[in-house]
Amino acid sequence: MSSLPKTMKAVQIEKTGGTDVLQYKTDVPVPEPKEGEVLVKNDYIGINYIDTYFRSGVYQPPSFPYILGREGSGTIAAVGPNVPSDLSVGTRVVYMGQYAYAEYTPVTSNYTVPIPDSIDTKTAAASVLQALTAVTLIRDAHPVKKGEWVLVTAAAGGVGLWLCQLLKAVGAHVIATASTEEKRALAKENGAEVVLEYHEEDRDVFVKKVLEITGGEGVHAVFDSVGKSTFDSSLAVVRRKGTMVSFGNASGPVTGLALARLSPKNAKLLRPTLFNYIATREELQEAATELWKFIEKDGLKVKIHDVYPLSDVVRATQDIESRKTTGKLVLKP
Ligand code: NDP
Repeated sequence: MSSLPKTMKAVQIEKTGGTDVLQYKTDVPVPEPKEGEVLVKNDYIGINYIDTYFRSGVYQPPSFPYILGREGSGTIAAVGPNVPSDLSVGTRVVYMGQYAYAEYTPVTSNYTVPIPDSIDTKTAAASVLQALTAVTLIRDAHPVKKGEWVLVTAAAGGVGLWLCQLLKAVGAHVIATASTEEKRALAKENGAEVVLEYHEEDRDVFVKKVLEITGGEGVHAVFDSVGKSTFDSSLAVVRRKGTMVSFGNASGPVTGLALARLSPKNAKLLRPTLFNYIATREELQEAATELWKFIEKDGLKVKIHDVYPLSDVVRATQDIESRKTTGKLVLKP
């Protein structure tokens, strides 16, 4: 630890609230890695919509002050006791965990993987959480088969663009929803076959269109990250014995669902989180290897919306919450 500085730049909150609770600090103590942890000197930090839930109070931070951020990439600067031998000082890694909005982040080795030489640290930080979410959704939540029809909401967002590309790569037909013409065009460029507006105000229009496209049957699966405002129309277009995967709350959480609503079509309903699909290091490594293969062999790409200096965290957060971004937002410490 001797070559490390004593303090670092970081973004923390002392309470939940609007973007005014975000504090950019330059004198936060550099943490020491504990048992099973590595300390990563971040090159890039990925912004995820979940960061806004921890800031706003939709999800509760474990304690205050709390450094936001769930993923980053960089180089291991120090290791704690009992860390796997493939993670040593100097190794280029990408990780998922907590406290990423900082120059240095302590992370459990369970959620840290070396980056292959062919992949740069910006791509890795911009990909891992959203892309692995998409990989596990199409593999574990609803194992998508070639030829299936799948609805993806917020299709031009971070996870959405990965879903469009991955679903196309496995031979599924994607119906994508997004709020603007520009976003819908981007979803199409990334593999969506059909793009639609949400029609939140008139669900029947939306449902009728999806039924027409799918020969009256509805889709085999929906991957819905918008939550409250789209849940009803998403469930309405699931076919008999189809799967409704609700995996996000961008418009607010879905609450108070009567289970009997699943009966008319014997639909399956899941509310999964990435971390329960990659709970062990082996599971993470396996999913990451799949992702690297999709990037290296199938040519899947991450669209980076913008790289913001860490000190510009308020602007970056306002941008993602304003719905005007497409693809991935990244911070540079
Ligand atoms: P995005 O880049 O997709 O940004 C969120 C998008 O949601 C917006 O661009 C917008 O797209 C859409 N949206 C719809 N309604 C609203 C609203 N009222 N306010 C703001 N945005 C809205 O973010 P991410 O890719 O980081 O995450 C996408 C979703 O996936 C989030 O809900 C996130 O929580 C979830 N997620 C879940 C995980 C899990 O393990 N379950 C893991 C990772 C992400 P448009 O304008 O086109 O509607």
